[in-house]
Amino acid sequence: MELFLYNSLTRSKERFQPLTPGQVGLYTCGPTVYNYAHIGNLRTYLFEDVLKRALAYNGYTVKHVMNITDVGHLTGDRDMGRDKLEEGARREGKTAWEIAAYYTAAFRQDMERLNILEPSIWCKATDTIPEQIALIQTLEEKGYTYRTRDGIYFDTARFPDYTKLSHQNIEALQEGARVEINPEKRNATDFALWKFSPADVRRQMEWDSPWGTGFPGWHIECSAMSMKYLGDQLDIHCGGTDHIDVHHTNEIAQSEAATGKPFFRFWMHGAFLIISGGKKMAKSEGNFMTLENAFVQNGIDPLAYRYAAFLTHYRKPMEYSPEAMEGAVNGVRHLRNQVRTLKDAADGKQGQIGDDLRVQFLKEINDDLNMPRAMAVVQELLKSDRAPEDKLATVFDFDRVLGLDLAQVDKADTLPAAIEQMVAERIKAREARDFARSDELRDAIEAQGYAVQDTPEGMKVFKP
Ligand code: AMP
Ligand code: ZN
Repeated sequence: MELFLYNSLTRSKERFQPLTPGQVGLYTCGPTVYNYAHIGNLRTYLFEDVLKRALAYNGYTVKHVMNITDVGHLTGDRDMGRDKLEEGARREGKTAWEIAAYYTAAFRQDMERLNILEPSIWCKATDTIPEQIALIQTLEEKGYTYRTRDGIYFDTARFPDYTKLSHQNIEALQEGARVEINPEKRNATDFALWKFSPADVRRQMEWDSPWGTGFPGWHIECSAMSMKYLGDQLDIHCGGTDHIDVHHTNEIAQSEAATGKPFFRFWMHGAFLIISGGKKMAKSEGNFMTLENAFVQNGIDPLAYRYAAFLTHYRKPMEYSPEAMEGAVNGVRHLRNQVRTLKDAADGKQGQIGDDLRVQFLKEINDDLNMPRAMAVVQELLKSDRAPEDKLATVFDFDRVLGLDLAQVDKADTLPAAIEQMVAERIKAREARDFARSDELRDAIEAQGYAVQDTPEGMKVFKP
């Protein structure tokens, strides 16, 4: 079946075909490891994980490269401000290297908790400095660079297709870039390829280069790493929508200027996680939640967040609210309960995957990863009157894309069906602000020997 993906370059859903038949080269911009990832960042990694699983479900072998940005990402995206890693080191009284190692480990733990598959290759910006320097030298030889007092810059006026990803007119982009103008830049949109260490401060992370001691710009890192590990097979490049106007636009300009060839063919971007009022969740806004403090510490299964992410299409903003999370906790628990019941009923019998529903499921994910509709197919399957072993075989097959770890259902903290029923009813009562009914249901659940806790992230029901 044909796979259609929305390509930000052409602003349309296009039929996807890799450059090498059967194999896909996928690059996803990884975390800047100066702090914990927030659940907004993790939404983007979840979308990328579903993409990767959907590609595998379609029979492709995926070579997935994810970088770790451990140097060069400045507090202002346009090469101004302080290095986020050095900033983190100052904040915590550690070295920049320690900060990077600590938050990389924390990120990998978050991935594991969300059942996000590991990339085929992890790479750190600080491990690919020679490749980045070589790429800047190529750009220099081809006349795309110039020197200012604080670094080597890319001259965006020399790359006529500069706006092909952002689809903005150049004046609008220049205007956006003017916020943090460096008077020595020829064009507001020009960006640093190499920044010099300040004369009076010794940076913790710095390297010699043909232009002087310093460190790479954030954008050159991703270009050098993707080309190093994926070579000419540059199929899909992903990130959040905030990367379109600057980071990815600059990656395209410098890579295509250096090689004279098209860089990635598909650019895919995940929409933001927002909080009520429409504000983006961001570290700089101080409104961010981590998987640890919003889920793990409250005893909430992090896979509920994975489930919640499936209920909004990846190109639409997803609003975080305790009620939505409560619904997801309940949804994932209910799904596990159903799988457990099916397992008991199947009693070890080997089932057949329902081909008709598999086709329907594939049709939804191949329509630009339409997970809300794919989840409806899962519900349809569970409601159908097929044999339990066939339902089980089919739902496990779907779980290759869902990644909800449904085979591990025996380990799940599931509730008896009668309690579940009351939990679902209480969620509805609370949504309808019927607090009298909600209190009645709380008493009824407690009378059955369960504890009920209303936390900011939603209702928790457990055996005390
Ligand atoms: P960073 O660690 O800041 O480089 O961001 C990691 C990834 O998270 C990038 O792909 C960003 O585009 C993405 N991102 C940042 N904020 C959000 C948000 N509120 N919702 C979804 N993705 C986000
Ligand atoms: Zn990147």
